[in-house]
Amino acid sequence: MHQYAEIIIDLVSNAVDQPFHYRIPPELRAKIVPGIKVKVPLGNRQTEGYVLRLLKKTSIEPLRDIIAISDPEPLLTVEQLSLLSWLSNRYYCRKIDALNAMVPASFRQGKRPKKPQLIKVSDLGAKFDLSRAPAQKEAIDLLLSKGPYSRKKLEEAGVSASTIRTLEKRGLIEYISSTYTQVNNKEQKSQTLPHELHEEQANCFNHIGEAMRQKRPRRILLHGITASGKTEVYMQSIAACLEKKETALVLVPEIALTPQMIDHFEGRFPGKVSVLHSRLTPAEKARHWEMIKSGEAKVVLGARSAVFAPLKHIGLIVIDEEHETTYKQEEAPRYHARDVAWWRARYHRAVLLLGSATPSLESYYRATEREDLLLSMSARVTPIQLPPVQIVDMRRELKENHRKIFSRMLLEELEGVIERDEQALLFINRRGFAGFVLCRECGYVVRCPSCDVSLTLHLDRQLMCCHYCGHESAVPQTCPDCGGIKIRYFSAGTQRVEDEIKKLYPQVSLIRMDSDTTTSRQAHSRYYRQFRERKASILIGTQMIAKGFDFPDVTLVGVVAADTALNLPDFRAPERTFQLLTQVAGRTARGEQGGKVIVQTYHPSHYSILAAAAHDYHSFFEEEIEKRRQLSYPPFTDLIRFLFSGSDEKLVFEAASWMTAMLEPAVGAAEMLGPAPASLYRIKDMYRVQTVLKGEGLTRITPKVKKVIREYHSHKPSWPVRMTVDFNPLVVL
Ligand code: ADP
Ligand code: ZN
Repeated sequence: MHQYAEIIIDLVSNAVDQPFHYRIPPELRAKIVPGIKVKVPLGNRQTEGYVLRLLKKTSIEPLRDIIAISDPEPLLTVEQLSLLSWLSNRYYCRKIDALNAMVPASFRQGKRPKKPQLIKVSDLGAKFDLSRAPAQKEAIDLLLSKGPYSRKKLEEAGVSASTIRTLEKRGLIEYISSTYTQVNNKEQKSQTLPHELHEEQANCFNHIGEAMRQKRPRRILLHGITASGKTEVYMQSIAACLEKKETALVLVPEIALTPQMIDHFEGRFPGKVSVLHSRLTPAEKARHWEMIKSGEAKVVLGARSAVFAPLKHIGLIVIDEEHETTYKQEEAPRYHARDVAWWRARYHRAVLLLGSATPSLESYYRATEREDLLLSMSARVTPIQLPPVQIVDMRRELKENHRKIFSRMLLEELEGVIERDEQALLFINRRGFAGFVLCRECGYVVRCPSCDVSLTLHLDRQLMCCHYCGHESAVPQTCPDCGGIKIRYFSAGTQRVEDEIKKLYPQVSLIRMDSDTTTSRQAHSRYYRQFRERKASILIGTQMIAKGFDFPDVTLVGVVAADTALNLPDFRAPERTFQLLTQVAGRTARGEQGGKVIVQTYHPSHYSILAAAAHDYHSFFEEEIEKRRQLSYPPFTDLIRFLFSGSDEKLVFEAASWMTAMLEPAVGAAEMLGPAPASLYRIKDMYRVQTVLKGEGLTRITPKVKKVIREYHSHKPSWPVRMTVDFNPLVVL
């Protein structure tokens, strides 16, 4: 019998991020299992914790007793317990951070429904000869003729609790629940039928099916251009997976989790899908979790955090748009859903299917190295060709004295669209990187007093606003620096584009979509519907309109400024630019009339822009992977970023230097960059300094690095400097 337990204390603090051992009092020994939540003494108070594992002995002295069990049911599965340790090692986070990310808060706090209530006879029970156990036979007969019954009702009908227990143990009865309709609050849909697969789709489907039959962990990259019918391949693979009595997990970017998408999945697998999205209330989330844990949900569809859904017997994990940065969490644990998914696929001996039109360099590189299987689909489902892409050199426009934010070519095409009564999308990169107030005489740019970034102009409120901290100030009439009067704003923000279009074509109706106009989810779908119903001819928007917008009448896509993403101080900038342009281009030529894309740029010969214009992933990959190889960037190396921040500039540097010096002997051949100011040196009055480790296979030095991190935390616990550690960060700004 195990007499001791290793416990994770339920407090988010470095001070308790270590294994705590407790004695299990004899009366609790039969009930305590790994994953259970318990009450324990800590110092002179009482707190809660989770049992990580049971121990036969311990050398820790003195030992205290577990006080009580908080929740009789284990909150974590065996798989989750083991994933927890992996997460805390790989991503340098506290175990409690990993646990909190894995299990929804409402579920941890025990706000969940009772176990499924109804009892019915199992297949086995219906056949079983019970003539020598009359009490059991009576119960079975009753259930067969009048069931299913709730437990309470069954007992009222004279069946004893011990009989129910015996029947349950022998597998002669089973619990069923109607949580599905409870949870979804709507009718089960009637099933929609699968499409007959095209040749390329069928080929991919066969490979995926074959891999699933092998029952070995397998990672497959499905590189399919937009509208090549990847979703259909996912769905039929899921169907095959369910047929084998296994479950499937599907991850999509949060922004793609639209009602249409959800209907699509629920329609194909009626009554089997649990959808995890950010609009669920905590109670709903807990109920979904219960439904997944109990095995009622066979398919889980959700965004990043759904990767932790406690499905059992997983046969297939799909990650759609696998290159999306939203799969990486930006707070502890700073995990990448793709890596967690691969961990789970190995655990379940399942297939991990990554789909994208523009795979991440990491994934495509692995596939070319034959570590993963590469499948491709290069034809659109509909016979319409990919749209032609025209690049416009904005430097030349300027030289030829055309100073508008729209080039002459874009204007001409826009007029064509308006004349023919078609629709156009105008795409502007994320707000905040465009639109600043500048003095044309001295070059002064108005910046946020507490962050090291320029302020963005919001014309509707006549204010300038900082997009890091929210600071607002009035637009100056004269330059605060030289007093000049030629101060004016420079932008290609969504609002500027809207104003210009209104000036040029006052009669044309338009919609603008960015995070200012779509603060609510409803606004988002309202605009979507309006444009779909052709209430507007021009849709102006940010990233938000680059994905999943599927309008057959859009015949023109204009990228107003392709360079904003390219100019970020980040080695992944060319990759982001390529992905973004490809995605935006995919928004047109969806209908009979075809379509056209115009890309305005100050870097017309940059390879990522040229490759995107040619719809040529391969040439982009070749160029970019060579650059990464030469500069030793991922996928050839791993990065670990240590970011220090605090209000006292000197102390931040001191802490960073101390840590960097301590790391030096631990990191072996890895390159150490820093300490140096981060690109965004000041955010919300906090100075930011970083040290980046770069090297091959950095997971090998994890134990050493962890040791240094522990030393850091105990060295100067009073340092008013926050340190965050990020393994393979996606953004290093
Ligand atoms: P992707 O995910 O690759 O961008 P989609 O899955 O959105 O592509 O497919 C584009 C459209 O083609 C969808 O409307 C889908 O229903 C349809 N489609 C997919 N496969 C087939 C097929 N085999 N036969 C007919 N239509 C299909
Ligand atoms: Zn600011």
